[in-house]
Amino acid sequence: MKIIMLGAPGAGKGTRAAMIAEHYGIPHISTGDIFRANLKAGTALGLEAKQYMDAGALVPDDLTVKILLDRVSQDDCKEGYVLDGFPRTINQAEVLEEELKKLNDKIDFAIDVDVSDEVIEERMGGRRVCVKCSATFHIVHAPTKIDGVCDKCEGETILRADDAPETVRQRLKVYHEQTRPLIEFYNNKGILRMVSGSGSITDALAAVIEVLNQG
Ligand code: AMP
Repeated sequence: MKIIMLGAPGAGKGTRAAMIAEHYGIPHISTGDIFRANLKAGTALGLEAKQYMDAGALVPDDLTVKILLDRVSQDDCKEGYVLDGFPRTINQAEVLEEELKKLNDKIDFAIDVDVSDEVIEERMGGRRVCVKCSATFHIVHAPTKIDGVCDKCEGETILRADDAPETVRQRLKVYHEQTRPLIEFYNNKGILRMVSGSGSITDALAAVIEVLNQG
């Protein structure tokens, strides 16, 4: 099963992608995570991606497509995968489609996680991430016991540069201009499925399975 998660930044794609990956026993592939891991390791790719990420912009397609295609060609992707944060442009979607076609393969479903911009601004502005273990918290919905200190490893929790309010607004603008057209792209192919990103997270996996079982 090959699944794409669509939705604005902060819509809850990542949480759902992780649940789906575990349920179907397939890898969860997040291009954002790959960039962040590269940045942590100090690679040239990570440093190049950082300037775009911190500005709320998209990393150029040539770079992003290459790392994604490398990743999905690995052995653990043979039975499928869940893509989280890729594609983010029509061009990325078309390149992926062409590469899969060469292998006589295709994406089975694109799941759009639907949330309003207002909810996203509130969610991301309140998000805090541990600099040491990357655990995430929220100042209102999932606060740390001690302000600014990670519950899991006692590392410092911070507002990620790309979660800062002005960056979030920029990311939403980029989303509406460049990524949202993918909803129509996959709808036209008959593989788009919609789920709400506002409901309880405990029901999220069941909601996804339900739309996938509709065929
Ligand atoms: P995410 O964790 O998915 O929100 O991604 C964080 C940042 O990584 C984004 O704001 C972009 O700067 C960059 N990024 C991740 N995936 C892509 C992609 N498919 N195309 C371009 N940039 C991306």
